[in-house]
Amino acid sequence: MTQSFADLGLASELVRAVAEEGYLAPTPVQAKAIPPILAGRDVLAGAQTGTGKTAGFTLPLLQRLTHHAHHGGRHSIRALILTPTRELAAQIEESVRTYGRHLKLRTALVYGGVGFTPQVEALKRGVDILVATPGRLLDHLGQRTLSLAHVEILVLDEADRMLDMGFIHDIRKVLAVLPANRQNLLFSATYSDEIRTLADSILRDPVQVEVARRNAESELVTQRVHPVDQGRKRALLAQLVAAGDWRQVLVFTRTKHGANRLAEQLCKDGIEATAIHGNKSQGARTRALAGFKAGEVRVLVATDIAARGLDIEELPHVVNYELPNVPEHYVHRIGRTGRAGTPGEAISLVSPDEYAYLNDIEKVLKRKLEREVVPGFEPGAPAPQAARPTEERERGPRPAPTRRGGERGPQRPNARARHAPRAEQPPARPQGPRPQPERARPVAAPDDGHQPASHANAQFPSSGPAQPAPPRRGGHGDRGRPAQVPALLRGAPRRTN
Ligand code: AMP
Repeated sequence: MTQSFADLGLASELVRAVAEEGYLAPTPVQAKAIPPILAGRDVLAGAQTGTGKTAGFTLPLLQRLTHHAHHGGRHSIRALILTPTRELAAQIEESVRTYGRHLKLRTALVYGGVGFTPQVEALKRGVDILVATPGRLLDHLGQRTLSLAHVEILVLDEADRMLDMGFIHDIRKVLAVLPANRQNLLFSATYSDEIRTLADSILRDPVQVEVARRNAESELVTQRVHPVDQGRKRALLAQLVAAGDWRQVLVFTRTKHGANRLAEQLCKDGIEATAIHGNKSQGARTRALAGFKAGEVRVLVATDIAARGLDIEELPHVVNYELPNVPEHYVHRIGRTGRAGTPGEAISLVSPDEYAYLNDIEKVLKRKLEREVVPGFEPGAPAPQAARPTEERERGPRPAPTRRGGERGPQRPNARARHAPRAEQPPARPQGPRPQPERARPVAAPDDGHQPASHANAQFPSSGPAQPAPPRRGGHGDRGRPAQVPALLRGAPRRTN
């Protein structure tokens, strides 16, 4: 029987909060990490972004702070979460607020690149949980605008990345001012010798938590990219479903609204489709899934979050109607097919404005995906008059698609010139700011007046102004981390150049 969040020993306020988030069951890292953390043990966890690790440490941390008496003053900092980038910090703080919404704990965020004074004001109001990047935290310590004397729980999140970014000395300085008698949680995607050394020096008799490589790119999955204009994606999808006589296909959109609209439009095209996303009631989701499993619904349109809990074996087709803005989600998505030893097909419909996302995904995969322009759907070509997919099928066999393995962009030279990204000059991103590592811009003036001990291992682009705005929800703050995820995907330790 599947374990529930309540089974893990979490309090009702937290169980309620995760239910409101639409989480159906704990992820493996949550199931393994939450009980020992609740019991006050130190934990060393090998888990990467996308596994649900944030809730894995945040939920039990919130519970311990709520249910255990403390000795500091009211709203003194009792938990410190250190993370490598401001984006990740912002994301974690948002998660802390979300999961802790039924509790009375206060949270603050401290990272570089933004004004110091507002952070001081927030700290003065009293904080129970502080989420921080190391450099700015040290600045506050130096200015005596915060005290870590009452910290009971320390979390080092993405510890490997902090080391890669040269934060080891900063971390050591922070450790030196923490009370000795505290609980330590160290999360790292990879285990290098440096991480082991750090873990050995911090953790006391830790419980080790290792989660299976959920992100592994299955060899059984054939991946293909169809370059196509955004406005023609639905017609192409309908054609693929009809021409391939697909009986069961999971289609991913980026937004809930997009999922609804696509499902409705497919139904109008005569293809049974239903949408599944976080705004739907649990009952509606369960019904949609049951209909899909029973073969009554041919196309299930889902957002990333909604698809997380789906357990559908032997799904033959996955379509990325829109590419995810977090590359790891791509690997999660395609992992829905090619399961249980059966081959699967993952197709991405990529419009020119999404090439930057495609680039990021290919960096994570460490390879180019095969492009195949479907005749009649060339990007930039005028849309044919009312070509409904069924009519197209009746016109007889199509010419063989043009395979363009390993090349960028669509076939037409002018279209390619217009749309394909140049390797040396990536195109504008489709939305939102590119997450900036706090300390990865050695040539740019430090925006918080604090220099890390070393930039030698920074692996981030050095361009772009400081981006104080927190990232979009769902971003993982690690998009500028080309070397990390592939190493994870292979389960191998990452080289740190
Ligand atoms: P993380 O690995 O912590 O970055 O989490 C990745 C994503 O998984 C976040 O968008 C979370 O909201 C989501 N998530 C975390 N736990 C669960 C769960 N038990 N079920 C479904 N989604 C989850």
